[in-house]
Amino acid sequence: MASLFWYKNPYDMEKTELLFRKQMRENMKHHYANCKEYHALLDRFGWDGTKIQNMEDIADIPVLPTLYLKHHRMDSLPTSKMLTRATSSGTSGNKSNIGYDLTSLWRMLGMSVSIGRRHKLFSLRRCRYIILGYEHRKAFDKSHKDDEKAVAKTAYAFTYMAPAKSRIYALRYQNGEYSLQLEAIKEALIKYSKKKTPVRIIGFPFHAYWLLTQMKEEGITCHLPKGSVIAFGGGWKEYYTQRADKETMYKLVEEVLGIPEANCWEFFGAVEHPVLYTTCPKHHFHVPIHSRVLIRDVDTFKPLPMGQPGLVNLLTPMIKSAPVHSIMTDDLGILHEGSTCGCGIKTPYLEILGRVGMDDITTCAAGAEKLSQQIIQEVLK
Ligand SMILES: [Zn+2]
Repeated sequence: MASLFWYKNPYDMEKTELLFRKQMRENMKHHYANCKEYHALLDRFGWDGTKIQNMEDIADIPVLPTLYLKHHRMDSLPTSKMLTRATSSGTSGNKSNIGYDLTSLWRMLGMSVSIGRRHKLFSLRRCRYIILGYEHRKAFDKSHKDDEKAVAKTAYAFTYMAPAKSRIYALRYQNGEYSLQLEAIKEALIKYSKKKTPVRIIGFPFHAYWLLTQMKEEGITCHLPKGSVIAFGGGWKEYYTQRADKETMYKLVEEVLGIPEANCWEFFGAVEHPVLYTTCPKHHFHVPIHSRVLIRDVDTFKPLPMGQPGLVNLLTPMIKSAPVHSIMTDDLGILHEGSTCGCGIKTPYLEILGRVGMDDITTCAAGAEKLSQQIIQEVLK
């Protein structure tokens, strides 16, 4: 068993636990030796990487809040080793900027292959892609590739899961800025519904919801060819309070586009934790072998038992280029016992409840902020 990331069954936690721990230890050792800021942080906490002897020990790894990464760029490799960089998709304020080297990208590819095969995301049949998001800029604006949003990269990667006959984007990059072209997307959908080639749509759920609601109001229904798929990624962001529940969304998709619920996929991931979470047939995000999730109490940051809501802490030994092996997101979530899903996958599944920082969950925002401050102070001491 050479690599956790090229392991065939992405949900076989039992057989890969040892490997996960080993790679976590190696990853921490690498970051400790190569990232000055992270070195200082571990020294402050008196943390010794060799301590990861069992799975419970990973909870003691000092976490890096994504809030901290939004203010400080942390690299564990020289710039010359970074093949690409990506930023988080926050619409305002600071963004995390993470570099990826060849090893990290190779692991990411292995993980995508294993997840893609398990969830039958790949197809040999040509299809037309509609990306309800940012146009991938690299092809015609190399000067900006360094700070491309991770979400644009993910959407672009998605267009390789089946051969592309064509790709169109809702947010076109023209004369140095993006412009939203929903009318063009509507026209394309109508045109494609009269053809035989399947269509694959990917985007933020709120963009899809706006478009489909608008189409429904205008009385436009265009049932897409058999085999068409719609995939949502990136969550509801600042529109979280206006979110549509899953049933409403799937009903709308079926009504307007004729895509059945089984072909509605959802992805979850973060620029600081680029593990591909994909929904099972029951629409749950089971934790794959490449990742672990801890839910932490918003005040004490102690790990909580399954079923209790708290701050989402994501762990993975995937990334060599930045010390992101244990990051504290500003998401609130619950971890559920895998067997309660009923789809057959045994690993626990993560339910995202929302993003802290909104008015209605101020205590958690304060919690994340407090942790961030604490770590910043520790590092800067
Ligand atoms: Zn499931």
